[in-house]
Amino acid sequence: MAGLLLQVGRCGGTFSLSSLAFSSSAHVKGSSPGVRVSVSEQKDVEKQRSGSRCHVVQVSASLQSMMSDMSRKAPKGLFPPEPEAYKGPKLKVAIIGAGLAGMSTAVELLEQGHEVDIYELRKFIGGKAGSFKDKNGNHIEMGLHVFFGCYNNLFRLLAKVGADNNLLLKDHTHTFINKGGDVGELDFRFLVGAPLHGMKAFIATNQLEPFDKVANAVALATSPVVRALVDPEGAMRDILDLDKVSFSVWFISHGGTRVSIKRMWDPIAYALGFIDCDKISARCMLTIFSFFATKTEASVLRMLNGSPDERLNGPIAKYIKENGGRFHLRWGCREVLYDRTSEGKTYVTGLVMTKATEKQIVKADAYVAACDVPGIHRLLPKPWREWEFFDNIYKLLGVPVVTVQLRFNGWVTEMQDLEASRQLQRAVGLDNLLYSADADFSCFADLALTSPEDYFKEGEGSLIQLVSQSLFLFRL
Ligand SMILES: Cc1cc2nc3c(=O)[nH]c(=O)nc-3n(C[C@H](O)[C@H](O)[C@H](O)COP(=O)(O)OP(=O)(O)OC[C@H]3O[C@@H](n4cnc5c(N)ncnc54)[C@H](O)[C@@H]3O)c2cc1C
Repeated sequence: MAGLLLQVGRCGGTFSLSSLAFSSSAHVKGSSPGVRVSVSEQKDVEKQRSGSRCHVVQVSASLQSMMSDMSRKAPKGLFPPEPEAYKGPKLKVAIIGAGLAGMSTAVELLEQGHEVDIYELRKFIGGKAGSFKDKNGNHIEMGLHVFFGCYNNLFRLLAKVGADNNLLLKDHTHTFINKGGDVGELDFRFLVGAPLHGMKAFIATNQLEPFDKVANAVALATSPVVRALVDPEGAMRDILDLDKVSFSVWFISHGGTRVSIKRMWDPIAYALGFIDCDKISARCMLTIFSFFATKTEASVLRMLNGSPDERLNGPIAKYIKENGGRFHLRWGCREVLYDRTSEGKTYVTGLVMTKATEKQIVKADAYVAACDVPGIHRLLPKPWREWEFFDNIYKLLGVPVVTVQLRFNGWVTEMQDLEASRQLQRAVGLDNLLYSADADFSCFADLALTSPEDYFKEGEGSLIQLVSQSLFLFRL
């Protein structure tokens, strides 16, 4: 591999070093690539493919199909309807952080007629879902991102800003790459939908041995997921009660096996929260299982058709600017200024902002902190810990993660056809998110296949992006 390039950034969590992207390319020149991408059609995906191997043509998946309807039989709090029209006075609002939370807040506030300024510490927007271009024109991502079919809130935002055609639908299967290139599938493709498609996926999976599958079935059959089929709110209450129990403890106590945890659930837990089943709460895993069990499309994955700066954050920022919002990049909030009245009430009076050697006090009618975990720990005035709400924020711990991008001069996930894997005319291999139980990293994808608009390059092969805990970094 040639042209090793190292970028270091922060990516949320309590990371001193949390996003690291290597982009290494062999720069093998070849003839014109065979991949052509059309991303504008308002119909479902039609691909020339065998299984989840993608070749030659990718058609866009708009958000008009294969998306769960979370307005029905789903916990209401997680999927709120559009807010009602605001009738009060226009407010000047200062938002700290231009991640998805800050920007989606800005979109809603602007729609309600308020004046919005967003202050972002970094020189690019998007936060953990951000990306930027290096001096060679490579897009460097903060992390590998997939979008489940139940992400209705985000889909609503994308539709609003005109970016709903920027997602590509992937085959409805979850793929595990095991040692030696053995491929395991949790394949949800079936004639009928939820919950039968999920049952079929677990019965048919080749990722687990028969004994572990039976034990898995027992655990899931005795979980609140079953209640979710008829009473989603009640199931959600049961699931919330499991917040203090790790998924491993819950799963084993319901008959599940350690082998299932290692072969299937740990990679999924890592992909969800960068921690294993001994650390992730049963609440987190069972919430997503209950969506998967009740909504056919909830487990379908989409990925951006290119880089987040072009396809996700760019359109959101454009919408914000067109509606009068303002971005202030590289302006970090250093201190929250506040007053206490004689009645003991506390009011924020301003924000101390700095950009290099410049400093200003920002005053607004309302302030929103949409920071990552370490960011908010640094920002909250210590005396506010007297309130449980703010003190609880200090109980949140971030997880350091590393994102690595590697460019190859061949197709890494094409494991059957050696010749095809060595040519550079067309993209071949597995077009999906890939989990791994046997590697130092939990999940990865070939972006040149999954997100070809900005990542497929003439004469070059796979662009593998993988995500791991920072421990991996020290073994490189
Ligand atoms: C590697 C990785 C992969 C992921 N994959 C997925 C996935 O596949 N699917 C999924 O749904 N989610 C995924 N996530 C999670 C998802 O990216 C985050 O939940 C989401 O992006 C968080 O958005 P946010 O706006 O809350 O926070 P952030 O994105 O962290 O944004 C916070 C922003 O605030 C800024 N900031 C902090 N302090 C200050 C300050 N004092 N002054 C000014 N600005 C400040 C930061 O610079 C940052 O830009 C992934 C996360 C990572 C790290």
